[in-house]
Amino acid sequence: MEQMSRGLLQNTFTCELCGLSTPFTYFGQKPPNTRAIVLLEECFVTKDPFSPDKERFLVLGSNCSLCGSSACVGSNCSLFYTARFCMRCVNKNLHQFPGPIQKELGKKNPTSLPAVP
Ligand SMILES: [Zn+2]
Ligand SMILES: [Zn+2]
Repeated sequence: MEQMSRGLLQNTFTCELCGLSTPFTYFGQKPPNTRAIVLLEECFVTKDPFSPDKERFLVLGSNCSLCGSSACVGSNCSLFYTARFCMRCVNKNLHQFPGPIQKELGKKNPTSLPAVP
């Protein structure tokens, strides 16, 4: 008995920072049914439910390149700077990011994220 019904599998992407949980249809750098679109990073994407256009898709989030946590693209959850970083890692390594990014992040009121051991 082989169970190869991968195409129908419903996967769920869950942001480990804000808890956002939503189904995704593809994980990787080149979403199916899109021409000439290659993303900068491997991410979780889903078809745009608001668009009839098959090639429209939404990027939900990605895995942090440091700790591997899945984080959504919300500006409170992750940052893309040459690679994807979750805000926990950004805050831990803030001094390693360039000045403009530090400033940008400093402007936001740092809502206290749950401390992770
Ligand atoms: Zn999030
Ligand atoms: Zn991280």
